[in-house]
Amino acid sequence: MTPSADPSARPAGLRRSVVVLVLVAVVGLAGTGMAALALHNAERDRLARSLGQRSTIISQAISAEVSRYSASLLDLAAAVGAQSELEAAEFTAITAAVDRRRFPGGTGLSFVVPAADGDVATLQERWRKLGATGLTLRPNGASAHRFAVLSKSMDDMGSSIGTDMSTSAQAVEAMDIAEQGHRVAVSRTYRLLKDSDLPLERRQLSFVFVAPVYATSPGAADNGRFRGWLMLGVRGGDFLSEVVAGSAGDRVAVTLLDDASGDPLPMATWAPGVPLDTSIGARDEPLPVAQRSWTLRVEATKRLLTGTDQGLDKVAGAVGLVLTALLVALTGTIVTSRNRALRRVDEATAALRTDIARREEVEHRLRQRETELVGFAGVVAHDLRSPLARIMGYADFLQEEAFDRLDPMQRDFLARLRKGADHMRVLIDDLLDYATAENRPMANVPVDLHRLAEEIARERAADRPAEVVVGDLPTVYGDPTLLRQVLDNLIGNAIKYTPAEREPHVRIGCHPIAEGRWRCEVSDNGIGIPENDRSAVFDAFRRVGGSENFPGTGLGLAIVHRIVERHHGRVGVDSNPEGGSVFWFTVPEDSRIPVSHAPPAQKQMS
Ligand code: ADP
Repeated sequence: MTPSADPSARPAGLRRSVVVLVLVAVVGLAGTGMAALALHNAERDRLARSLGQRSTIISQAISAEVSRYSASLLDLAAAVGAQSELEAAEFTAITAAVDRRRFPGGTGLSFVVPAADGDVATLQERWRKLGATGLTLRPNGASAHRFAVLSKSMDDMGSSIGTDMSTSAQAVEAMDIAEQGHRVAVSRTYRLLKDSDLPLERRQLSFVFVAPVYATSPGAADNGRFRGWLMLGVRGGDFLSEVVAGSAGDRVAVTLLDDASGDPLPMATWAPGVPLDTSIGARDEPLPVAQRSWTLRVEATKRLLTGTDQGLDKVAGAVGLVLTALLVALTGTIVTSRNRALRRVDEATAALRTDIARREEVEHRLRQRETELVGFAGVVAHDLRSPLARIMGYADFLQEEAFDRLDPMQRDFLARLRKGADHMRVLIDDLLDYATAENRPMANVPVDLHRLAEEIARERAADRPAEVVVGDLPTVYGDPTLLRQVLDNLIGNAIKYTPAEREPHVRIGCHPIAEGRWRCEVSDNGIGIPENDRSAVFDAFRRVGGSENFPGTGLGLAIVHRIVERHHGRVGVDSNPEGGSVFWFTVPEDSRIPVSHAPPAQKQMS
């Protein structure tokens, strides 16, 4: 099976990323919503406060104006009452200063007197004599009349002179209240008689201020008696516009409601032409007017708050949304990059695992093949041994028994036969050693390296004179037979690869190294090994340049390598500073270090 990255990891990672993004978005939106809500509430509070302040100011302004109208009308009534005989000229003089500037919204000021049905003609005659020359009384058909006998118009709608005011129930009611209460009264809202002829768009609802007039001149025939009423007509719309224009501006819309009938009647409206702010409701203020009660309704327009105060919640919302979007985008980028990096790591890991698995498989097959080959070589070598022994036996027999009868050429052939058979014997021995070094059972016992080296040196010195110095070698742990093969191969090579004309000088020594091991070295003064070839000498059948003149099979160092490998050690070769080579290997210091089933030994050259 091909190893690969954990397949369940990706969807889980993706789910985690989506959860993180959703969390960031939710937190961002919640924060934005809360900030916008807080600002919205703060703005509403400010709006309500501001509307309250405006309402109070406007209410006070209207109250002040109504008081001023009442007081002025009382003054005028007093002036009219002070005349011993009221004539038209005196009325004109008294009301000379009365105009729309003094009474905004005013339509006219009239002196109204009561008259019984039968007195109309007499009354008309009397007032004509008093200066109201063109007076024509127009009774309304009822039995009791209230005629405007003197009048000053304050608009372009003409004078009310001669009109019978008893036609208007609202005016009559106000007159009665004023007369009975000796005070100024304000009528209910109604359409003035003189406005009946106005075009629809100019018609307004109005009301009248009424003040009773009493004769107060000692010389007057009617001194102390009720003379009539002074009546000031006011158009509601004009009055309201004049009074509130300054204080309301375009910040609020104002409606005056007359509470007379249970259902408040809108009397006049000030609408500045700016859209209303419906986020906050209208504010109603009760407004006492003379003996009556009005309601002042004030509504905020979109301009009530200054520009900078408005829409802060929307600005905060928009900024919050933008920030949230940026945050989500940033988090998304980070999460995506991280996921991409993780994916790459996973892919690389999977590729690496595949590679390792493939290598292990190849290595396994190689080992299998090598084991088969080595086994095969062992079998072959073993089977070759007995025929070779017979060949050598017959060669020896020829040498001893028939040598004298051979001619020189036959003797030369016999010598060559002997030499070839010798070489083959060595090769077969080496092959068997090489084959068995891999998997023959191993001992793990103390091995006296010093004694071993001394024995080998003695045996080797018998073949060729050599100076072999065995140092202070330790007792180590391992297999005595195999370790003997290691020393034998290395000491044998050290002597063999020293040119014949030179006496071999061989030194053998060990010293402890880390990890509880000894490092043993065999140095010689031989031909040495070129640096480039040092990595190859431990391979089987490898003989390097310069060794052609020396006998050998190329298996000795391969055997050494295998044995050291099984002792969990390392092997290598350095050049000897004094000329020649230094071969070295490491072995366990004590029995606790395993010497079989070890990982492959490492060859090291320097
Ligand atoms: P063999 O000696 O039978 O050829 P080895 O495996 O023992 O095989 O050695 C492999 C090669 O390493 C040799 O052919 C030789 O070239 C080189 N070699 C080994 N030992 C020495 C040495 N002490 N000095 C120089 N060369 C050596």
